[in-house]
Amino acid sequence: MEKLIMTPGPTYIKENVRMAMSKAITNPDLDLEFYEFYKNICEKLKKILHTKNTTLVLDGEGILGLDAACASLIETGDKVLCIENGIFGYGFGDFAKIYGGDVHYIHGDKRKGLNFNEIEEYLKEKHDFKVATLVHCETPSAMTNPIKEICKLLKKYNIITVVDAVSSIGGEEVYVDDWNIDVVLGGSQKCISAAPGLSFLSISDEALEVIENRKEPVRGFYTNLGIWKGWYENKWFPYTQPISALYGFDRALDNLLEDKNVTERHRVYAEACRRAFVECGLELFAKDSFSNTVSAIMVPEGVNYSDVFNKMQKEHNILIAGGFDFLKDKLIRIGHMGENCYEDKLYVTLEALNTVLKELGFKLNKDLHIVFKNSIK
Ligand SMILES: *Cc1c(COP(=O)(O)O)cnc(C)c1O
Repeated sequence: MEKLIMTPGPTYIKENVRMAMSKAITNPDLDLEFYEFYKNICEKLKKILHTKNTTLVLDGEGILGLDAACASLIETGDKVLCIENGIFGYGFGDFAKIYGGDVHYIHGDKRKGLNFNEIEEYLKEKHDFKVATLVHCETPSAMTNPIKEICKLLKKYNIITVVDAVSSIGGEEVYVDDWNIDVVLGGSQKCISAAPGLSFLSISDEALEVIENRKEPVRGFYTNLGIWKGWYENKWFPYTQPISALYGFDRALDNLLEDKNVTERHRVYAEACRRAFVECGLELFAKDSFSNTVSAIMVPEGVNYSDVFNKMQKEHNILIAGGFDFLKDKLIRIGHMGENCYEDKLYVTLEALNTVLKELGFKLNKDLHIVFKNSIK
């Protein structure tokens, strides 16, 4: 049996994506057909993100998108509002600081979605920020933040909105234009179910203008989004494109676009997972704003996370994830994103977790996989 990778990214990669990565390559700088191919990928991303904004794929894992957005938009002393309720949200502020940002924080409850009213009240008092950063799905704690309302609010104060949606795009709807997101970032290895190594983003005209009118040069080359200007018209890429990774990514985008039911599928299986955990006597880490792409439960009393992880891997050939940073050893996380979000894979995973928890002495009220199956609506 092939190892089941049920982590919240990287996710399983379908055979047609693996095959696409093994295709013969061309010279992406000199072959004009490749410019059309890359442009076509950008068009597919516009569809997925519901936007008319410029889209790009960068040759580096999801973090490169975050880094590039901060490097390109922030100059020394710029006021940045970091709205956070988790590890990635908080970390966004550190990226802003690297580029000289004067970072102010709104700290949310770590177990609840960002609170619109609190942010609204804060902004009434203080709103002279150039940029605000926030995270759509906080993967480490399995929560999805209400970015639609928050970004629309930030825009009323003319603040540039930068959203990390690495673990939600492809599993939850993201309406970039309607929600007023200036820069949204995604990664290839989460719900898109392509190989790790690419990040993608959309950039509004307003954000592009800010980049163009900087006083200081961007402190980096790879992270400078300005270097992409005119790439199609001039048939010039800033660096040689990762052609094989892009072949796979393109196929994965097709898989996603062909799946008309994709967000509904994520919602249904995520809800069934949560119901199984709760009915069996486990505790979800989040109190509200549950993610549809990843679930996080507390490691039950008397059980060691590393025992769960090791038994899942050694005895069931399934890789799951735990918590990190302040959540280290406290959580069990299961990804139900992209190609992992199917009944058969989740059933097998929950059946194995059921066995493992019982063997480790935890008494479940019912069987996880049975409740899961019965909860699929
Ligand atoms: C996965 C992920 C990233 C990319 O980070 P890695 O840990 O390098 O994979 C960024 N933001 C969020 C919210 C993510 O889930």
